[in-house]
Amino acid sequence: MVMALLLLNWQLMPLVRKLVRSEQEIEKVNANLHRSKEIIERNLSELTHYNEAVGKLALVSVADQKGLIIQANSKFCEVSGYNEEELIGQDHRILNSGIHPKVFWTEMWRTVSLGDTWHAEVCNRTKGGELYWVDTTIVPLRDSSGRIYRYLSVRVDISARKQKELSLCQQLKESNCLQLIRQAMDSELSVSKLCQHILAHLTAAVQYPEIASAKIELAGEQFVTDNYVEVFAQRLSAEIIVNGNNIGELQLGYLESKLFWLPEEQNLIDIIANDLGRWYERKLADQRISYLATHDNLTGLPNWHLLQDRIAQAIAHAGRHRKRAAILFIDLDRFKIINDSLGHEMGDLLLKETGIRLRSCVRAEDTVARQGGDEFVVLLQGISDHQSAGAVAKKILEAIKQPYPIGGKKLHIGCSIGIAVFPDDGENADILLKNSDIAMYHAKEIGRNNYQFFTADMNQQIMERHLLETDLRRAAERKEFQLYFQPVIDMPEQKLKSMEALLRWKHPKLGSVPPSKFILLAEETGMIISIGEWVLKEACLQIKAWQERGYQVPRVAINLSARQFRCKTLVADITRILNETGVSPSSLTLEITESMLIQNVDEAVEILTQLRLMGFELSIDDFGTGYSSLGYLKFYPINILKIDRSFIQNIVSEPNDAAIIAAILAMAKTLKVAVIAEGVETQEQVTFLTQQGCNRYQGFYFSEPLTAEELESKLCASQ
Ligand code: C2E
Ligand code: MG
Ligand code: MG
Repeated sequence: MVMALLLLNWQLMPLVRKLVRSEQEIEKVNANLHRSKEIIERNLSELTHYNEAVGKLALVSVADQKGLIIQANSKFCEVSGYNEEELIGQDHRILNSGIHPKVFWTEMWRTVSLGDTWHAEVCNRTKGGELYWVDTTIVPLRDSSGRIYRYLSVRVDISARKQKELSLCQQLKESNCLQLIRQAMDSELSVSKLCQHILAHLTAAVQYPEIASAKIELAGEQFVTDNYVEVFAQRLSAEIIVNGNNIGELQLGYLESKLFWLPEEQNLIDIIANDLGRWYERKLADQRISYLATHDNLTGLPNWHLLQDRIAQAIAHAGRHRKRAAILFIDLDRFKIINDSLGHEMGDLLLKETGIRLRSCVRAEDTVARQGGDEFVVLLQGISDHQSAGAVAKKILEAIKQPYPIGGKKLHIGCSIGIAVFPDDGENADILLKNSDIAMYHAKEIGRNNYQFFTADMNQQIMERHLLETDLRRAAERKEFQLYFQPVIDMPEQKLKSMEALLRWKHPKLGSVPPSKFILLAEETGMIISIGEWVLKEACLQIKAWQERGYQVPRVAINLSARQFRCKTLVADITRILNETGVSPSSLTLEITESMLIQNVDEAVEILTQLRLMGFELSIDDFGTGYSSLGYLKFYPINILKIDRSFIQNIVSEPNDAAIIAAILAMAKTLKVAVIAEGVETQEQVTFLTQQGCNRYQGFYFSEPLTAEELESKLCASQ
């Protein structure tokens, strides 16, 4: 039994020991379990804290294996603008901004479906349409069998940083764009070239260059990018203001519906439109300056400078193509009279109209230039012969002589044309212009209103004119001048009423040169001032001499030229000569012509009034040739009208002239002005004039101009 018990005990002992050991181990396990639980609880609480913290910072969402959202945290909802219900069941395309290309998303799916974590910066769009950037990590979650069953997305909002980066990048692009555009504006570009530059730089500088398109409208012109379409999905625009006026627009558009980066991109196009406006203002000013430098202000025709260029081109062209070029030098006949009598405004209108008419007579490739004053030059390019130039000259004569309806009047004017042809009459612009000018003078000399081709003979005449000028300069000191006196007779007593001093030039080789040959030359060269002084002094000395010899000397009329009359020292010069010679103004009459009076009415009235007050008698010479209205005479303190010889000549046969004389006499009577008929040659003329009530005559019928000695016989001794 004992044995049996001992055996049992022996057999049970290990079991008991095992039991004890198990118990100890259970206790140990229990203790461990307890510790683990504590750890788990601690970890769980930490996890909850982490989760809360992450939830505050990150946008967390969980999607199923198809990518449909099954869970989204509140930060996700807050940033995206959607609430949880709106998100659940949707895939992430609900957030798509459209900014990333398709390949971006393909790559994302490829990575996560292989079980790898995907990380990128993603631009999303809120429910309200605004863009935001998130730093995104997508972690695929596997179940116990290793299959991917969830996708955990954790996103951190990086919009602020992204915006800053974009802004810096964009600013860099924009400032680069502006710099390039300004560089282009500094170089000499045409409007079209510059606009193309602007369009290229602007579209490259915006956020989505590949879909950017632009247009510039400027002063009626339109410039566009190659991809331009009339209707943009999105559009920005800025006005182009030039000199205060809106003259165009800069438009920038996206071909797809992408948003502009505002306000920066609007600012950019505002700055470019403003710069373009300033550039265009400068361009217009430059154009105006170069236009003014090469064109005549009044008529808008090319001026002398541009003409020189055009002639040089025409010569080069004619030389290459074995052609000719012609220069037509055109001078209006008696334009000065119209200008002086009707005023500069009328004269200007007439010149403008002349320019228009000349242009209408030539081809587009020919040039019509204004040389100055009433002179125009027409350049005919590539003509084959002289006849072509002659035909154009005829056309011009015809066009110019048509009446000009200006200021309620019908004005008439003619022109004289001189023609020089390249290469026959000169090889360069200077010679051709000079020779056409010579030919024009010739046309004037032979009666105006015609055209003349330049000939070598004309050169001879010009040489002669030059020699005459040299001789005229020395004529006074060589004592070649002499004064003649032509009586003015008063009817019916046939008494010497007055006389006119007329200048003669006794040239050592040419003999007696008439005033018609040298007075104009003296006027043109200014020599008339000193010659006029000589005449006045000589006349005064003669009067004094006659008076000292006891003669009653009637008034002596002195011709004053226009240039003398305009001379500021006229009154002072006359006074000095009278003082030097001791002659009184009551011994003299001063003759002026109509045209001198009309130029500067106030000034003319002032000078004449001064002379009248000094005691001079004043007369208007060659009356009737100035085409002026009779009415203006009442403004001037005039004593005598001298009717021009051209009216007297045909007075008996020409009813028109007779009517004019009758009108002048009637008006003179009203104004209490005496009348002298000039150039009376026949008894019939005297009879007619007497019948009309004209009593004073000057003319060959009574006496030709006489020397002082010859005239002396007609003077009466004073009592
Ligand atoms: P004018 O002042 O009208 O002088 C009258 C001109 O007519 C004179 O010509 C005279 O000889 C001419 N004449 C007079 N009666 C008759 C006639 O019956 N038949 C014809 N066919 N002619 C007649 P002249 O002396 O040749 O002078 C021409 C012009 O030259 C003058 O015209 C005057 O404008 C200008 N002139 C003459 N002497 C002077 C002067 O000392 N100074 C200025 N500035 N001009 C002068
Ligand atoms: Mg006279
Ligand atoms: Mg006269």
